[in-house]
Amino acid sequence: MEFWLDLNEEQTDLREWVHGFAESVIRPAAAEWDEREETPWPILQEAAKIGLYGFEFLVNTWSDMSGLSLPVVNEELFWGDGGIGMALSGTSLAVAAIYGSGTPDQLVEWVPQCFGDEADPKVGAFCSTEPEAGSDVAAMRTRAVYDEASDEWVLNGQKAYATNGGIANVHVVTASIDPSLGSRGQAAFIVPPGTPGLAATKKLRKLGLRASHTADVFLDDVRVPGSCLLGGKEALDARLARAREGKRASGQASMRTFELSRPAVGAQALGIARAAYEYSLDYAQNRVQFGRPIVENQAIAFALADMRTEIDAARLLVWRAAWMGRNDRPFTAGEGSTSKLKAGEVAVAVTEKAVQILGGAGYLRDHPVERMFRDAKIYTIFEGTSEIQRLVISRAITGRQIR
Ligand SMILES: Cc1cc2nc3c(=O)[nH]c(=O)nc-3n(C[C@H](O)[C@H](O)[C@H](O)COP(=O)(O)OP(=O)(O)OC[C@H]3O[C@@H](n4cnc5c(N)ncnc54)[C@H](O)[C@@H]3O)c2cc1C
Repeated sequence: MEFWLDLNEEQTDLREWVHGFAESVIRPAAAEWDEREETPWPILQEAAKIGLYGFEFLVNTWSDMSGLSLPVVNEELFWGDGGIGMALSGTSLAVAAIYGSGTPDQLVEWVPQCFGDEADPKVGAFCSTEPEAGSDVAAMRTRAVYDEASDEWVLNGQKAYATNGGIANVHVVTASIDPSLGSRGQAAFIVPPGTPGLAATKKLRKLGLRASHTADVFLDDVRVPGSCLLGGKEALDARLARAREGKRASGQASMRTFELSRPAVGAQALGIARAAYEYSLDYAQNRVQFGRPIVENQAIAFALADMRTEIDAARLLVWRAAWMGRNDRPFTAGEGSTSKLKAGEVAVAVTEKAVQILGGAGYLRDHPVERMFRDAKIYTIFEGTSEIQRLVISRAITGRQIR
């Protein structure tokens, strides 16, 4: 499909529908759930009831050939609120992992269980980061050992900072099978609901995105059926054999999976940035100092002009990468990373400027820009820090192993 900036009627309707939910349900509840630092289950239920949370919604959004529906939805949800947006979107991390590594049968079996149903919505968790393996994924210590007698995998280790860790119905856990192969010796496993040995007792307290649950996850002799290895054993054995021969293909495939998910994350950052920009624009038009609205000072008006310009630039990069990913265009210059890098840094800069434009009021919890400022910061950290995005881009454009 050709790249086209005009949204079609279906996409415009989708945007308005999600925007309406964000405006009428998410925004009014944002401050409360930020203070409570809890998953807003009633909002998940409401979203599930109207079809905005669930397997079907995800399939419809992902199947759009232009690739733009997903960033459009994410921008509107996170315009509503970052924390609640993440509570609604955190499951998609697990789904993306199942989609990226699983067989069609595994997709059909597990993705619906990540979401639950309309009456009883659930969440999924993707557990990859570890205390000693953050940006350095290859340093992963969690081990998966195959028990041939029972056709089970036994998982042991510790995962850090897992969104929905411990409260998820389905946990997708990455583990090393052959540590000597680094990231190419790793695989992902489904941990089905209620599996003994998985525990996440400590909920983490955060700067922002507080309505999204984050926890460390401990795996103590967690036994999962052989069928829970994503992609299946035959494919794993073939992949490990290729890696042992020194072939690079599988590493490149997983890099592409990351690149594909980055524009959707960038769109989340964009939503927070746009919300802060709109709020501060409105405030600047109404706040009077020295006998005139503060927006009549170039210092303020130009800051708003820059904020708008940066948001538009970031959106173009996000949409381009989303379209490229959906239409199988190669990311020859790290375009997926470029979109996430730019959107994340724009969100941090724009929300900081919004606080500045509101002055003292911006520093108070009475106005949402304070929360947006806290929420935005995560976008230069998770799903690959800004430095890691720059590594990906610089390696792509130089062809060198930049460190
Ligand atoms: C709220 C939240 C939710 C999260 N959700 C999930 C989740 O659901 N699942 C999951 O698996 N993980 C999750 N994470 C983890 C997140 O992805 C990691 O925090 C992130 O990848 C960075 O890893 P780290 O924190 O160990 O930082 P480190 O890797 O220790 O990095 C520290 C600093 O060093 C820099 N650095 C590291 N290596 C290099 C290098 N080679 N070159 C230049 N700079 C470098 C980094 O950019 C960073 O500035 C979440 C984190 C948070 C805070």
